[in-house]
Amino acid sequence: MLIDTHCHLTYEGLEERQVDVVQRAASAGVNRMICIGTHPADHPRVLETVAAFGQVFAALGIHPHHAGEVAENFIDELQWAIGSSPKVLAVGECGLDYHGNSASPEVQKTVFLRQIELAEQLQLPMILHVRDAHADALAIMKHHPRVRFVVHCFTGTPQECARWMELSAYIGFTGVITYKNAPDVRSACRLVAEDRLLIETDSPYLTPQAVRKIKPNEPAFVAYVAQRVAAERGWTIEQTGEITCANAVRLFGDTLLQ
Ligand SMILES: [Zn+2]
Ligand SMILES: [Zn+2]
Repeated sequence: MLIDTHCHLTYEGLEERQVDVVQRAASAGVNRMICIGTHPADHPRVLETVAAFGQVFAALGIHPHHAGEVAENFIDELQWAIGSSPKVLAVGECGLDYHGNSASPEVQKTVFLRQIELAEQLQLPMILHVRDAHADALAIMKHHPRVRFVVHCFTGTPQECARWMELSAYIGFTGVITYKNAPDVRSACRLVAEDRLLIETDSPYLTPQAVRKIKPNEPAFVAYVAQRVAAERGWTIEQTGEITCANAVRLFGDTLLQ
């Protein structure tokens, strides 16, 4: 069994054909998926999706790209949405993204911190989105040692990965690990602690190299990520499935197996 720990089944390209996508995942041995909600209008759709499919679970948060759009009381809405289904396993994705046209770093940090406090209060793990902002995100998480979290879609350097390891972070790898121009990500994959490694698609984005012509990406293709992780770590595909599933259950809880 494989678990896609990060996909967006409510995004264009996947939402229109969810039944087909979930079935194709099952055929590929991907029997659990965590569907990520990224802004207030997305949360109800994610909740509908997890209600419709037994094998789909959720995490809800405010993505840094949306940090500038939230209402004053966004944290109340988020807490309510999280509490409305036992299938919501984590707070996120949230974090810092200094790459594109997101909100200012100050606004991003404020919205991120509110979500960390919520995760502490609810005793839930977190899914972090960190792009070109590892130093700031590391500094913030260092002040919240009780929060367990994954740095999803890791695209940092091996040095940054090592610093996350010092905080006992989980690290999520996507199809990026299969791209020619990502030797740093493969190096990072080799140094992550065995009990901290997760796999994901981040679909509909980041289709693995072997199926790159197929757009959009979908949870079934997490098998290609597993293949590459296996090659980097010297594991069999079976071992990779066992190890990454055990890690996902340790982080997100036994509910994931129900
Ligand atoms: Zn992300
Ligand atoms: Zn995402």
